[in-house]
Amino acid sequence: MVATPTQTTHKNFKGVEKTVYGRGSFSQLDEILAPRRSDNQGYFVFLVDNYFKGKSLEGQVPVHHEDLTYYISVEEHEPTTDQIDELRDEILAKKGLPSGVVGIGGGSIMDIAKALSLMLTNEGSSTLYQGLNLIKKPGVYHVGVPTISGTGAEVSMTAVLTGPVKKLGLKCEWTVFNQIVLDPELIASVPRNWWFYTGMDTYIHCIESENGRMNNAYSHAYAEQAMKLCREIYLGENSGQTTENDDKLMVASMMGGLSLTYSEVGVCHALSYGLSKILGTRHCYANCLIMNHLADYYPEGVAEFKQMVAYHQIDLPQGLSNDWSDDTITQMAHISYNLPHMWLHAIGDNWQEVITIDLLKDLFRRL
Ligand code: NAD
Ligand code: ZN
Repeated sequence: MVATPTQTTHKNFKGVEKTVYGRGSFSQLDEILAPRRSDNQGYFVFLVDNYFKGKSLEGQVPVHHEDLTYYISVEEHEPTTDQIDELRDEILAKKGLPSGVVGIGGGSIMDIAKALSLMLTNEGSSTLYQGLNLIKKPGVYHVGVPTISGTGAEVSMTAVLTGPVKKLGLKCEWTVFNQIVLDPELIASVPRNWWFYTGMDTYIHCIESENGRMNNAYSHAYAEQAMKLCREIYLGENSGQTTENDDKLMVASMMGGLSLTYSEVGVCHALSYGLSKILGTRHCYANCLIMNHLADYYPEGVAEFKQMVAYHQIDLPQGLSNDWSDDTITQMAHISYNLPHMWLHAIGDNWQEVITIDLLKDLFRRL
């Protein structure tokens, strides 16, 4: 009798290859890149958040004369498929295949660097590759240097892009950074509202990762530690943007990201994707707007989230949905509904009996 092949039921994930952590570690970047400088056409592409243009960090980026540097504004929109395709075409036309790509910025720049690395070696539009394991060839060497913490994009296996049809990541083993540089000095200048919204992304990742059927001892250990750090950073008299808390937030972001990698996000992220896709609301801000109204699903997490909002007097507007038409809300509900992996995790096998378009519309109307 022929044995039936064993089915793969456990995720087999690739992690970041090398990590340097510590105050001032950014100064090691030149040395880290040096061994790679002879690969391909022998030059690096630096993608830097436009916020740093004219700031002291600009002078510290280890750019050599042959390198290309792009200062990218992430203010108007989150990364798009068009943006990546244009950047890729321009770079290849100018200088051919680079030795590597370095992203210096927040989750948006992390995703641009990851996506660009892949699209430099994969033909056609990035819209062709939005989804799981659709990328055909490994990308070029890529390095992530986060300057705002919370999304976990520095450790995740996906590069989230908004395209004409989907807001979905290029997700595969090759998406993961070869190297990350975690220097807590870089996040000191983050404005207070972004410090809160982006930091809360990691807290929400943990709440969602923990509360669902994909949770396990591995994801739980990361979530537990990341939530402990979040409480130290965002609750009580020692909370706030201090050097000690910045050291912790950088680690919390990474651990929250790893927790969800081994588990899954849930209700808040499913709704957040709907809101962001239809209205362009920023990921971390959208999550905070939604988390405020999810006490039915995550009672303890939402109660603690509200304490943190109140403690730091963060303004989370209410009544937004008064300005939305039924059609807009229906579109959001459909985007959210079409994320079965999140609903399976958060609700279970019978999710379609529990989660309906009407229920999702009611949740959006709470905003
Ligand atoms: P961001 O990159 O969008 O930046 C937010 C703001 O902070 C911008 O105005 C930016 O200029 C500013 N900023 C960044 N660093 C700064 C600094 N040191 N000092 C002053 N200002 C600074 O922020 P984000 O919240 O980290 O990223 C959101 C993006 O991440 C979204 O596009 C989302 O889709 C993506 N995301 C990706 C993943 C993933 O796993 N790939 C996970 C979650 C979110
Ligand atoms: Zn998130």
